[in-house]
Amino acid sequence: MARLGSWIEPFSEGIYVRPADAWVDPSQPKPTALVTHGHADHARGGHGKVFATPETLAIMDCRYGPQPDRPVAYGESFRVGDVQVSFVPAGHVLGSAQIVLEHGGERVVVSGDYKRRPDPTCAPFEPVPCDIFITEATFGLPVFRHPATAGEIDRLLLRLHDNPDRCILVGAYALGKAQRLITELRCRGHHDPIYIHGALQRLCDLYAQFGVPLGELRPATEASKDELRGRIVLAPPSALNDRWSRRLPNPITAMASGWMRVRQRARQRLVEMPLIVSDHADWDELTQTIQEVAPREVWITHGREEALKHWCMTRQIKARELNLVGYEDEDD
Ligand SMILES: [Zn+2]
Ligand SMILES: [Zn+2]
Repeated sequence: MARLGSWIEPFSEGIYVRPADAWVDPSQPKPTALVTHGHADHARGGHGKVFATPETLAIMDCRYGPQPDRPVAYGESFRVGDVQVSFVPAGHVLGSAQIVLEHGGERVVVSGDYKRRPDPTCAPFEPVPCDIFITEATFGLPVFRHPATAGEIDRLLLRLHDNPDRCILVGAYALGKAQRLITELRCRGHHDPIYIHGALQRLCDLYAQFGVPLGELRPATEASKDELRGRIVLAPPSALNDRWSRRLPNPITAMASGWMRVRQRARQRLVEMPLIVSDHADWDELTQTIQEVAPREVWITHGREEALKHWCMTRQIKARELNLVGYEDEDD
Protein backbone atom coordinates (compact mmCIF):
# COMPACT_ATOMS: atom_id res chain seq x y z
CA MET A 1 0.00 0.00 0.00
CA ALA A 2 1.24 3.48 -0.86
CA ARG A 3 2.45 5.71 1.92
CA LEU A 4 -0.19 8.13 3.25
CA GLY A 5 -0.20 11.29 1.14
CA SER A 6 2.27 9.93 -1.42
CA TRP A 7 0.43 12.00 -4.06
CA ILE A 8 1.39 15.27 -2.31
CA GLU A 9 4.99 16.31 -2.87
CA PRO A 10 6.60 19.17 -0.99
CA PHE A 11 9.29 21.05 -2.88
CA SER A 12 11.17 24.10 -1.71
CA GLU A 13 9.07 26.27 -4.04
CA GLY A 14 5.68 24.94 -2.94
CA ILE A 15 3.49 21.88 -2.50
CA TYR A 16 2.92 19.87 -5.68
CA VAL A 17 -0.33 17.92 -5.99
CA ARG A 18 0.62 15.34 -8.59
CA PRO A 19 -2.79 13.92 -9.68
CA ALA A 20 -4.03 17.51 -10.16
CA ASP A 21 -0.79 18.68 -11.79
CA ALA A 22 -1.20 21.80 -9.62
CA TRP A 23 0.82 23.66 -6.97
CA VAL A 24 -0.33 25.14 -3.68
CA ASP A 25 1.12 28.64 -3.03
CA PRO A 26 4.07 28.21 -5.39
CA SER A 27 6.80 30.82 -5.09
CA GLN A 28 7.74 30.34 -8.77
CA PRO A 29 5.45 30.78 -11.79
CA LYS A 30 3.58 27.49 -12.48
CA PRO A 31 0.93 26.45 -15.05
CA THR A 32 -1.68 25.87 -12.33
CA ALA A 33 -1.65 27.42 -8.84
CA LEU A 34 -4.05 27.00 -5.92
CA VAL A 35 -3.52 30.08 -3.77
CA THR A 36 -4.52 30.20 -0.08
CA HIS A 37 -4.37 33.99 0.40
CA GLY A 38 -2.96 37.25 -0.87
CA HIS A 39 0.23 37.71 1.19
CA ALA A 40 3.22 37.98 -1.11
CA ASP A 41 4.92 34.88 0.30
CA HIS A 42 1.90 32.79 -0.82
CA ALA A 43 0.55 34.66 -3.84
CA ARG A 44 2.94 35.42 -6.66
CA GLY A 45 2.23 36.72 -10.14
CA GLY A 46 2.98 34.90 -13.39
CA HIS A 47 1.03 31.65 -13.07
CA GLY A 48 -0.81 30.13 -16.03
CA LYS A 49 -4.03 29.73 -14.08
CA VAL A 50 -4.92 30.74 -10.51
CA PHE A 51 -7.60 29.12 -8.37
CA ALA A 52 -8.38 31.38 -5.39
CA THR A 53 -11.26 33.11 -3.61
CA PRO A 54 -12.64 36.27 -5.27
CA GLU A 55 -11.10 38.37 -2.48
CA THR A 56 -7.65 36.83 -2.93
CA LEU A 57 -7.90 37.29 -6.70
CA ALA A 58 -8.83 40.95 -6.21
CA ILE A 59 -5.77 41.39 -3.96
CA MET A 60 -3.57 39.70 -6.57
CA ASP A 61 -5.05 41.86 -9.35
CA CYS A 62 -4.30 44.91 -7.25
CA ARG A 63 -0.65 43.87 -6.87
CA TYR A 64 0.23 42.05 -10.07
CA GLY A 65 -2.38 43.18 -12.58
CA PRO A 66 -5.22 41.00 -13.95
CA GLN A 67 -4.78 37.30 -13.17
CA PRO A 68 -5.76 34.32 -15.39
CA ASP A 69 -8.21 33.43 -12.70
CA ARG A 70 -10.76 30.91 -11.66
CA PRO A 71 -12.68 32.32 -8.65
CA VAL A 72 -13.59 29.76 -6.02
CA ALA A 73 -16.32 30.38 -3.44
CA TYR A 74 -15.89 29.03 0.08
CA GLY A 75 -17.44 25.58 0.23
CA GLU A 76 -17.63 25.08 -3.56
CA SER A 77 -16.31 21.65 -4.58
CA PHE A 78 -14.65 21.10 -7.94
CA ARG A 79 -12.22 18.80 -9.68
CA VAL A 80 -8.72 19.58 -10.80
CA GLY A 81 -7.40 16.56 -12.69
CA ASP A 82 -8.01 13.60 -10.43
CA VAL A 83 -8.39 15.58 -7.21
CA GLN A 84 -11.53 16.93 -5.56
CA VAL A 85 -10.77 20.43 -4.26
CA SER A 86 -12.55 22.89 -1.99
CA PHE A 87 -11.63 26.10 -0.19
CA VAL A 88 -12.61 26.64 3.46
CA PRO A 89 -12.16 29.86 5.54
CA ALA A 90 -8.83 30.17 7.38
CA GLY A 91 -9.56 33.31 9.45
CA HIS A 92 -6.20 34.89 8.58
CA VAL A 93 -6.94 37.87 6.26
CA LEU A 94 -9.75 38.82 3.85
CA GLY A 95 -10.35 35.89 1.46
CA SER A 96 -7.90 33.55 3.17
CA ALA A 97 -8.61 29.86 2.69
CA GLN A 98 -7.49 26.42 3.69
CA ILE A 99 -7.35 24.13 0.69
CA VAL A 100 -8.99 20.73 1.07
CA LEU A 101 -7.66 18.06 -1.33
CA GLU A 102 -9.25 14.62 -1.72
CA HIS A 103 -7.81 11.77 -3.72
CA GLY A 104 -7.73 7.98 -3.45
CA GLY A 105 -9.79 7.99 -0.26
CA GLU A 106 -7.43 10.40 1.55
CA ARG A 107 -8.14 13.93 2.64
CA VAL A 108 -5.35 16.48 2.96
CA VAL A 109 -5.90 19.99 4.30
CA VAL A 110 -3.35 22.71 3.56
CA SER A 111 -4.02 25.36 6.18
CA GLY A 112 -2.14 28.24 4.60
CA ASP A 113 -1.81 30.84 7.36
CA TYR A 114 -4.57 30.85 9.94
CA LYS A 115 -5.76 31.95 13.33
CA ARG A 116 -8.62 30.96 15.60
CA ARG A 117 -9.55 34.16 17.39
CA PRO A 118 -12.32 36.36 15.99
CA ASP A 119 -11.35 38.88 13.31
CA PRO A 120 -13.99 41.34 12.07
CA THR A 121 -12.35 41.52 8.62
CA CYS A 122 -12.71 37.88 7.56
CA ALA A 123 -14.69 34.66 7.84
CA PRO A 124 -13.70 32.47 10.84
CA PHE A 125 -11.51 29.37 10.52
CA GLU A 126 -13.45 26.14 10.03
CA PRO A 127 -11.79 22.94 11.25
CA VAL A 128 -11.97 20.13 8.67
CA PRO A 129 -11.15 16.60 9.91
CA CYS A 130 -8.48 15.10 7.69
CA ASP A 131 -5.80 12.43 7.25
CA ILE A 132 -2.96 14.90 6.76
CA PHE A 133 -3.00 18.44 8.13
CA ILE A 134 -0.35 20.68 6.60
CA THR A 135 -0.06 23.47 9.13
CA GLU A 136 1.86 26.69 9.42
CA ALA A 137 3.92 27.18 12.59
CA THR A 138 4.89 30.86 12.55
CA PHE A 139 4.40 31.09 16.32
CA GLY A 140 5.07 27.42 17.00
CA LEU A 141 6.73 27.77 20.38
CA PRO A 142 5.02 27.52 23.78
CA VAL A 143 6.28 31.04 24.68
CA PHE A 144 4.01 32.48 22.01
CA ARG A 145 0.65 33.05 23.61
CA HIS A 146 -1.02 36.11 22.20
CA PRO A 147 -2.94 38.23 24.73
CA ALA A 148 -6.59 39.20 24.14
CA THR A 149 -6.79 41.68 21.26
CA ALA A 150 -9.30 43.94 23.04
CA GLY A 151 -6.78 44.55 25.84
CA GLU A 152 -4.07 45.59 23.38
CA ILE A 153 -6.48 47.96 21.60
CA ASP A 154 -7.63 49.47 24.90
CA ARG A 155 -4.01 50.10 25.88
CA LEU A 156 -3.55 52.01 22.63
CA LEU A 157 -6.70 54.07 23.19
CA LEU A 158 -5.72 54.90 26.77
CA ARG A 159 -2.31 56.12 25.63
CA LEU A 160 -3.98 58.26 22.96
CA HIS A 161 -6.33 59.73 25.53
CA ASP A 162 -3.42 60.56 27.86
CA ASN A 163 -1.47 62.35 25.10
CA PRO A 164 -3.83 64.80 23.39
CA ASP A 165 -0.97 66.84 21.90
CA ARG A 166 0.77 63.95 20.24
CA CYS A 167 -0.26 61.33 17.71
CA ILE A 168 0.22 57.59 17.85
CA LEU A 169 1.92 56.24 14.77
CA VAL A 170 1.17 52.53 14.41
CA GLY A 171 3.19 50.32 12.10
CA ALA A 172 0.99 47.69 10.45
CA TYR A 173 1.43 45.61 7.30
CA ALA A 174 -0.62 46.86 4.37
CA LEU A 175 -2.54 43.65 3.76
CA GLY A 176 -4.60 42.40 6.67
CA LYS A 177 -3.03 43.91 9.76
CA ALA A 178 -3.86 47.53 8.91
CA GLN A 179 -7.53 46.77 8.19
CA ARG A 180 -7.81 44.47 11.20
CA LEU A 181 -6.42 47.16 13.48
CA ILE A 182 -8.87 49.74 12.11
CA THR A 183 -11.89 47.46 12.62
CA GLU A 184 -10.71 46.39 16.09
CA LEU A 185 -10.44 50.10 17.02
CA ARG A 186 -13.99 50.64 15.74
CA CYS A 187 -15.20 47.65 17.77
CA ARG A 188 -13.68 49.25 20.90
CA GLY A 189 -15.66 52.43 20.27
CA HIS A 190 -13.09 54.59 18.49
CA HIS A 191 -14.99 56.35 15.71
CA ASP A 192 -12.69 59.33 15.03
CA PRO A 193 -11.11 59.58 11.61
CA ILE A 194 -8.02 57.39 11.30
CA TYR A 195 -5.16 58.75 9.20
CA ILE A 196 -3.37 56.42 6.84
CA HIS A 197 -0.11 56.41 4.89
CA GLY A 198 -0.62 56.36 1.10
CA ALA A 199 0.76 52.80 0.86
CA LEU A 200 -2.30 51.51 2.75
CA GLN A 201 -4.93 53.24 0.64
CA ARG A 202 -5.57 50.72 -2.13
CA LEU A 203 -5.95 47.72 0.12
CA CYS A 204 -8.18 49.65 2.53
CA ASP A 205 -10.37 50.60 -0.44
CA LEU A 206 -10.45 46.96 -1.52
CA TYR A 207 -11.53 45.80 1.95
CA ALA A 208 -14.28 48.44 1.97
CA GLN A 209 -15.45 47.25 -1.47
CA PHE A 210 -15.82 43.75 -0.04
CA GLY A 211 -18.00 45.14 2.74
CA VAL A 212 -15.55 45.44 5.64
CA PRO A 213 -16.59 48.63 7.47
CA LEU A 214 -13.48 50.72 8.16
CA GLY A 215 -15.18 54.02 9.11
CA GLU A 216 -13.67 57.34 8.09
CA LEU A 217 -10.09 57.13 6.80
CA ARG A 218 -8.11 60.18 5.78
CA PRO A 219 -4.79 60.46 3.95
CA ALA A 220 -2.14 61.38 6.53
CA THR A 221 -0.05 63.24 3.97
CA GLU A 222 -2.73 65.87 3.41
CA ALA A 223 -3.26 66.63 7.11
CA SER A 224 -1.56 69.47 8.98
CA LYS A 225 0.49 68.81 12.12
CA ASP A 226 -2.27 70.34 14.25
CA GLU A 227 -4.97 68.22 12.70
CA LEU A 228 -3.00 65.10 13.63
CA ARG A 229 -2.75 65.84 17.36
CA GLY A 230 -4.67 63.26 19.37
CA ARG A 231 -5.09 61.05 16.30
CA ILE A 232 -4.10 57.56 15.26
CA VAL A 233 -1.92 57.34 12.16
CA LEU A 234 -1.29 54.01 10.41
CA ALA A 235 1.74 53.37 8.23
CA PRO A 236 3.61 50.35 6.90
CA PRO A 237 6.40 49.29 9.30
CA SER A 238 9.04 50.53 6.85
CA ALA A 239 7.77 54.11 7.25
CA LEU A 240 7.96 54.17 11.06
CA ASN A 241 11.36 55.74 11.32
CA ASP A 242 11.87 57.31 7.92
CA ARG A 243 11.51 60.89 6.75
CA TRP A 244 7.81 60.46 6.21
CA SER A 245 7.12 60.34 9.96
CA ARG A 246 8.79 63.70 10.59
CA ARG A 247 5.62 65.47 9.49
CA LEU A 248 3.79 64.08 12.52
CA PRO A 249 3.33 65.91 15.85
CA ASN A 250 5.77 64.25 18.28
CA PRO A 251 4.54 60.73 17.47
CA ILE A 252 4.45 57.85 19.90
CA THR A 253 5.69 54.95 17.81
CA ALA A 254 3.72 51.71 18.08
CA MET A 255 3.67 48.53 16.07
CA ALA A 256 0.99 45.84 15.78
CA SER A 257 2.47 42.39 15.28
CA GLY A 258 2.65 38.97 16.87
CA TRP A 259 6.42 39.51 16.96
CA MET A 260 6.01 42.33 19.45
CA ARG A 261 6.08 39.61 22.09
CA VAL A 262 9.83 39.53 21.41
CA ARG A 263 11.32 42.62 23.05
CA GLN A 264 14.33 42.65 20.79
CA ARG A 265 12.14 42.96 17.70
CA ALA A 266 10.39 45.99 19.19
CA ARG A 267 13.75 47.57 20.08
CA GLN A 268 15.13 46.99 16.57
CA ARG A 269 12.33 49.08 15.12
CA LEU A 270 12.55 51.68 17.91
CA VAL A 271 9.00 50.85 18.89
CA GLU A 272 7.92 52.56 22.10
CA MET A 273 4.61 50.80 22.30
CA PRO A 274 4.55 47.18 21.15
CA LEU A 275 1.04 45.88 20.48
CA ILE A 276 0.72 42.12 20.29
CA VAL A 277 -1.90 41.70 17.58
CA SER A 278 -1.34 38.71 15.33
CA ASP A 279 -3.04 37.17 12.32
CA HIS A 280 -1.38 33.83 13.04
CA ALA A 281 -2.36 31.09 15.45
CA ASP A 282 -0.38 31.15 18.69
CA TRP A 283 0.87 27.96 20.37
CA ASP A 284 -2.47 27.18 22.01
CA GLU A 285 -4.40 27.78 18.80
CA LEU A 286 -2.02 25.54 16.83
CA THR A 287 -2.29 22.63 19.26
CA GLN A 288 -6.05 23.09 19.73
CA THR A 289 -6.50 23.00 15.96
CA ILE A 290 -4.49 19.82 15.53
CA GLN A 291 -6.62 18.18 18.20
CA GLU A 292 -9.82 19.28 16.45
CA VAL A 293 -8.90 18.15 12.95
CA ALA A 294 -7.47 14.91 14.42
CA PRO A 295 -5.14 14.05 11.55
CA ARG A 296 -3.11 10.86 11.22
CA GLU A 297 -0.15 12.97 10.18
CA VAL A 298 0.84 16.61 10.61
CA TRP A 299 3.17 18.24 8.13
CA ILE A 300 4.66 21.49 9.40
CA THR A 301 5.81 24.51 7.38
CA HIS A 302 6.46 28.13 7.77
CA GLY A 303 8.23 28.84 10.98
CA ARG A 304 9.27 27.00 14.08
CA GLU A 305 8.64 23.38 13.21
CA GLU A 306 10.66 21.64 15.91
CA ALA A 307 8.53 22.22 19.04
CA LEU A 308 5.26 21.47 17.30
CA LYS A 309 6.72 18.29 15.84
CA HIS A 310 7.75 17.21 19.32
CA TRP A 311 4.28 18.03 20.66
CA CYS A 312 2.72 15.83 17.94
CA MET A 313 5.12 12.93 18.57
CA THR A 314 4.33 12.85 22.29
CA ARG A 315 0.67 12.45 21.32
CA GLN A 316 1.37 9.61 18.87
CA ILE A 317 0.65 11.80 15.84
CA LYS A 318 3.19 11.34 13.07
CA ALA A 319 4.79 14.68 12.23
CA ARG A 320 7.17 15.87 9.58
CA GLU A 321 8.86 19.17 8.77
CA LEU A 322 8.61 20.57 5.27
CA ASN A 323 11.31 22.93 4.20
CA LEU A 324 9.56 25.43 1.98
CA VAL A 325 11.35 28.65 1.19
CA GLY A 326 10.60 32.31 1.32
CA TYR A 327 7.97 32.60 4.00
CA GLU A 328 7.49 35.22 6.67
CA ASP A 329 8.46 38.49 4.97
CA GLU A 330 5.05 40.09 5.03
CA ASP A 331 3.37 37.98 7.62
CA ASP A 332 2.88 38.61 11.28
ZN1 LIG B 1 -0.27 35.28 5.46
ZN1 LIG C 1 2.53 33.24 5.30
